[in-house]
Amino acid sequence: MTRSRADVARTYSIRTAGCQMNVHDSERLAGLLEDAGYVRGSGDEVDLVVFNTCAVRENADNRLYGNLGHLHPAKQRRPGMQIAVGGCLAQKDRGAIVDRAPWVDVVFGTHNLAALPVLLERARHNRSAEVEIVEALQTFPSDLPTRRESPFSAWVSISVGCDNTCTFCIVPSLRGRETDRRPGDVLAEIKALVADGVVEITLLGQNVNSYGRSFGDHYAFGKLLRACGEIDGLERVRFTSPHPRDFTDDVIAAMAETPNVCPSLHMPLQSGSDAVLKAMRRSYRQQRYLDIIAKVREAMPAAAITTDIIVGFPGETESDFEQTLEVVRQARFAGAFTFQYSKRPGTPAAEMADQVSKDVVQERYERLIALQDEISWDANRALVGREVEVLVSTGEGRKDGRTGRVSGRARDGRLVHARADGPAVAPGDVVTTTITYAAPHHLVADAGIRSVRRWRGAPAAHPSQSRPLLTIGARPA
Ligand code: SF4
Repeated sequence: MTRSRADVARTYSIRTAGCQMNVHDSERLAGLLEDAGYVRGSGDEVDLVVFNTCAVRENADNRLYGNLGHLHPAKQRRPGMQIAVGGCLAQKDRGAIVDRAPWVDVVFGTHNLAALPVLLERARHNRSAEVEIVEALQTFPSDLPTRRESPFSAWVSISVGCDNTCTFCIVPSLRGRETDRRPGDVLAEIKALVADGVVEITLLGQNVNSYGRSFGDHYAFGKLLRACGEIDGLERVRFTSPHPRDFTDDVIAAMAETPNVCPSLHMPLQSGSDAVLKAMRRSYRQQRYLDIIAKVREAMPAAAITTDIIVGFPGETESDFEQTLEVVRQARFAGAFTFQYSKRPGTPAAEMADQVSKDVVQERYERLIALQDEISWDANRALVGREVEVLVSTGEGRKDGRTGRVSGRARDGRLVHARADGPAVAPGDVVTTTITYAAPHHLVADAGIRSVRRWRGAPAAHPSQSRPLLTIGARPA
């Protein structure tokens, strides 16, 4: 359903919670809305607010209803305004959202993103709320129009859903079983993105290592990485999330032997205790995890490995937690996302006995962070004097007036703030510089820029050109 801009310039804003999959989906929702004649706005005074929700954290619903309550006066003031709720919490709570917040116009799920524009029209025409939740994927999100946040970095979804059954996780029940895209479709999208000015992609899946199982090729992910290596102009390939159970040697070899695959790996550990891993139904144990880390380090000594760890899983004893600390000491992660276990309604773990008390969880959490910060800082200090390549990024890339630094990610994923003396640089450029200082969670390069590889820009008429930051082709003098 396309409308001429002349007659409908309704403004929209999308509020995204949760994981990269949701960030990717929000870019598709923005693409759908702009195709339907909406234009991007901001704040509460827009014609349409879309919440793309996450159901992973406890209180996720309290946060949503808090935000909906906050918007109610604006809706009462402007009855033509619309509010839509999508994502994992919508897939879980369905019509209950309209029962609790009757000023919501549309509720849609994780499997029917494309339905949003039609549901909005129907709700406006019928002056009543539309709730449409489906159980199976209707359209692969990657087949939908997109409005990317960055003109030179892009998310590329290779699969949706997950076949695993980790007892703390609600994703499989909300995003369904794993559905894989055909490699040809993935590569075609990547080539189109590169032609559109993209230099960095992140391959996305709940479990990228099981990619290909649905079409009978257990080595498909390693092959996909290698195929990315054949694409001219594609400078950086990243991926998330791998799963230790399915992390095979061919993937390590593909990472090490494909130059544009970045030496950074985010591999969730969750716990270092075999007893807790068993209760989590993670299907691997401590030693297997450490073996993978050792193989990755052997193949790519400079690789930065990060992880996710849950503290306080039901039944976790002090000795279990000690084992987590021991794996952290041995694995020497560059960084870790650490979470205090929180009950997620609808997951087996929420019903488990021996829920750990909040103060015990808090105390362990602080011990883990202290240890990991020390290790991260140590690892960063070892990089002082090292020459690195930094992709100057949009958000982080804004030149800091006070420090004269621009920011971005090194190939290993580390955040670098680099003094931009010398040739003028802009987001999208790749600069070479030397690390002069290390902090626990970032690096500083105050030795100036040694060289710049300019971003060749996006072809003309690219939506992202509307971004104020980037003046394609015109560099500040
Ligand atoms: S692998 Fe486990 S934690 Fe990750 S999405 Fe699947 S069920 Fe959830």
